[in-house]
Amino acid sequence: MREWILDLHIHTILSPCGGDDMVPPLVLARAKELGIEVIAVTDHNSAENVQAFMIKGREMGVVVLPGMEVQTKEDVHMVCLFDTLEQVFAWQEIVYQHLPDLKNKKGSFGEQWVVNCEGNKVTEVERLLLMGADLSIDEVVKGVQDLGGLCIAAHIDRKVFSLLGNLGFIPVDLPIDGVELTPHLPRSQAQLNQLRERGIHHLVSSDAHWLDSIYPPQCFAFIEECTIKELKTALLKKDGRYIRTIR
Ligand SMILES: [Zn+2]
Ligand SMILES: [Zn+2]
Repeated sequence: MREWILDLHIHTILSPCGGDDMVPPLVLARAKELGIEVIAVTDHNSAENVQAFMIKGREMGVVVLPGMEVQTKEDVHMVCLFDTLEQVFAWQEIVYQHLPDLKNKKGSFGEQWVVNCEGNKVTEVERLLLMGADLSIDEVVKGVQDLGGLCIAAHIDRKVFSLLGNLGFIPVDLPIDGVELTPHLPRSQAQLNQLRERGIHHLVSSDAHWLDSIYPPQCFAFIEECTIKELKTALLKKDGRYIRTIR
């Protein structure tokens, strides 16, 4: 076992708010330059760019976990991570079925591009991705875990689109695998104590929407290999596995 350097929340050019530079060769080169070994591709309500990143990641020596950042009907963001494309696409199917069938308004929200491994634009996703799906927080956690995935409450230290910001608390019966904190926000000791008492462990991920918002290493996992099973064990701090963050 060893410590792996992770950033498990990165957007691509598919997210309407994602920069044009968020394409496989550039994101992976930036991750490598910073020494990040594992990234997760987590676009809003879609996984259509995951495969291109996984293929390019294998070529460039960066592990890419297939993922998505779902917006629940409570407008809470949840990071959903998987081992395989098959799992993430099965999850995407469910999310798409629960997204309102509206067309993206590029002028207001931004463009939603699917790219190939080299970062060339292939097609534009027409449906509006940047909105809440008709899935509750509980349904998202259950749906992801039933498929064998890992579900993390995104950026709980932000006031908007977060479990704590929107709900004000972490429901006691919500079986989330962990929570995510933001690299640049101050840490609340009360919040950290609350997490500790509940036995909930945190990750720190950059939630990068542009190349220059990918942070230098913030989060490390002491695991055997970078799989969902190993990450879950590390988040439970079991069998010698753990997650360590800079702050
Ligand atoms: Zn978010
Ligand atoms: Zn995000």
